[in-house]
Amino acid sequence: MDDGIALYFKGPHSFTGEDVIELQGHGGLAVNRLVLERVVSLGARIAEPGEFTRRAFLNGRLDLAQAEAVADLIEASTAAAARCAMRSLAGEFSERIREVSMALVELRMFVEATLDFPEEALDPADLADIRVRLDSLARKVEEIGAAGRRGIVLRRGMRLVLVGRPNVGKSSVLNALSGEDLAIVSPIPGTTRDALRERIEIGGVPVHVVDTAGVRDSNDQVENLGIVRTWGEVDRADAVLLLTDSRDGISGEDEVILQRLPAGIPVVTICNKCDLTGAIARREVGPAGPVITMSALTGAGLSLLRTALLEIVGRDEAVEDSYMARERHLDALDRCRRALVAAASLGERFELLAEELRGAHTALGEIVGECTADDLLGEIFSRFCIGK
Ligand code: GDP
Repeated sequence: MDDGIALYFKGPHSFTGEDVIELQGHGGLAVNRLVLERVVSLGARIAEPGEFTRRAFLNGRLDLAQAEAVADLIEASTAAAARCAMRSLAGEFSERIREVSMALVELRMFVEATLDFPEEALDPADLADIRVRLDSLARKVEEIGAAGRRGIVLRRGMRLVLVGRPNVGKSSVLNALSGEDLAIVSPIPGTTRDALRERIEIGGVPVHVVDTAGVRDSNDQVENLGIVRTWGEVDRADAVLLLTDSRDGISGEDEVILQRLPAGIPVVTICNKCDLTGAIARREVGPAGPVITMSALTGAGLSLLRTALLEIVGRDEAVEDSYMARERHLDALDRCRRALVAAASLGERFELLAEELRGAHTALGEIVGECTADDLLGEIFSRFCIGK
């Protein structure tokens, strides 16, 4: 049915650690199906989703965080996300977790020994030393968490909402950022009725842009629906782009919008159409964050806007020092950090201290899969695609 190659990987030097035969053919649906049917009729069975990676994990070829990175690498939609996943797969993330873990083991041994031999008086210097070590570990765990959060943005992208009165140039800015004619640009106020989503990429970071209906009171029912949706999008956004027209500056209407934004959300304000006022493209510091004077029409100041947006996701460190972490990892890191902080406040209450340290250690173990429940493993691997 086909001419092909059979490759034999002898265990343990294969991906799963087992003996593996790989059949390579010319591809094509019909031929592949025939080959598969034949192989199955000879006694093989179709792999479950993630089964190869699961076997690699169970055979100790990968730890859990690395196994998850396989899925992240396959799903990576930008070069930056792929590099980030590759670093986790190579074990950099796990390595940092293990460093903290080893330091915790040392501390635990010391504290448990103190519990076992209470008659030996503890040197006050040792107590101060424990405190210093706990503080430094808590800081390290926090840094790893921050690097993981940056990785999460690289994977799922930044959610960016465009807000501004009709006709200030929201669609034009979006088009300029994406380099394509995506949104409808029209000189009639209120044309962008629906929330329009588009995925663009800025400096390797995926950005989901939501161009919103003009946020203003309207008697038009369709437009009102769009307005309600707009506020829903704003509440879920990572950052807001507030657009104004250079000729009008920030209006009372904009002030009202600014006040309705969720607290703490980064806002980049744009004074668009600077070509009409003759103003030079520039960046200034405003009360709500950076203010960019630019022109979507001429493209002046567009790079200032890109830079301001990348700063929000921490682009400078983003690709060099981030891990493709998952919510599961961040949750475990947070539990670990809280246990360390709690431990640091316990002074000489060694029994409680030992318990907090045990909790911190277990949380780290969950990340790399040293102590992970079977049902969690099932959950993690079932999300892989078949054949991986
Ligand atoms: P929206 O309603 O906020 O989405 O605004 P549009 O993007 O549809 O733009 C409204 C009008 O302003 C269109 O005629 C655009 O061509 C024009 N426009 C947008 N940006 C600029 C700009 O930077 N300079 C000039 N001169 N016109 C612009």
